[in-house]
Amino acid sequence: MTLHQLGFGPFFSDQVPPGAWPARIVSEHRGVLIARDVDGVHSINSTPSAAVGDWVLLEQADAGPYIERTLDRTSVLQRRAAGAFSDRQTVAANLDHVFVVTSLNADLKLSRIERFLAATRPIPTTVVVNKCDLGGAHRALSEIRALGAEVIATSALSGLGLDELRARLEVGKTAGLVGMSGVGKSSLLNAVSRTDLMDTGGIRVSDDRGKHTTTRRQLFVVPEQGIWVDTPGMRELALTGDGDPAVIFADVEELARQCLYRDCDHDRTDGCAITAAIEAGTLTWRRVGSWEKLVHESERAQNNQKQALRKKAKKRKKAMLQKIEGKERALEIKAAVRRKRRG
Ligand code: GDP
Ligand code: ZN
Repeated sequence: MTLHQLGFGPFFSDQVPPGAWPARIVSEHRGVLIARDVDGVHSINSTPSAAVGDWVLLEQADAGPYIERTLDRTSVLQRRAAGAFSDRQTVAANLDHVFVVTSLNADLKLSRIERFLAATRPIPTTVVVNKCDLGGAHRALSEIRALGAEVIATSALSGLGLDELRARLEVGKTAGLVGMSGVGKSSLLNAVSRTDLMDTGGIRVSDDRGKHTTTRRQLFVVPEQGIWVDTPGMRELALTGDGDPAVIFADVEELARQCLYRDCDHDRTDGCAITAAIEAGTLTWRRVGSWEKLVHESERAQNNQKQALRKKAKKRKKAMLQKIEGKERALEIKAAVRRKRRG
């Protein structure tokens, strides 16, 4: 397998010094990461800040390879971890496209799709409505299209829409699959790639206590097709602060601007464009609620991101000052030694 087939491109190679050992994280399971390079897979124990899809630089130690550095990412998907709002976990990195999979029989929740669309921004995203062989897809498809999303109707069973899906894949490009369990993500992966990817994805690794476990590979390279990423964490995405949910609610935003009142709560009848649209039947309270919730969450994510950046900059400045101080101190000592030698 070539690095290109694994998704390596100029964005990453520009960050790699000559002689370094680049590899991509293909699985994460209880603190054990599996990295893949041109030769095969390597298991890496307890490493901070690398997720499935990440490109890392490896170094060899007696105990096995370790991650020397995680390369900058083109994109990330995160989920909320238990606890405080700011506790976020990166579940996948460096995706070029996301497929949000839903199915006709899982009661299709538009708000859930809106959350996924907001969370995957700015990565190009397509909604896949699977199990269309069950019939009655028409209404669901038009409701989702009305959200402004690109939609494909598929059936892993009959093969409907699979070519449309394949057309969005590309060798060296990485596509992520998100969606609730049971909607048919594994079946779609197998049908699109024409292999049993999901059954053959197991890899045996030993964890940091030397215990052997079987872990499911989460990043698959399909020859002549592209790269797929599927992780359990991608069923509950959080907004990252990189995207702007306002884009998927452009209609609601426009109406809110038309309200006569500043900071309108949209609970009056006269002069409120939102209430008027709801009365006219062109907007639903569901969509307004979804918009308010996601915009609020995005603002908090952006604030957290800014705070984290400030902290990082402060830390860098401190390290720099310490380095300068150290250098000055070393020069002083050298000068003192010289003076002593001279006399
Ligand atoms: P996942 O949890 O999202 O990976 O879903 P699976 O791929 O495991 O599928 C869940 C169930 O839905 C299985 O019983 C599949 O056979 C069924 N299924 C998957 N795709 C389709 C489809 O296109 N049509 C129908 N009728 N059933 C499907
Ligand atoms: Zn209003």
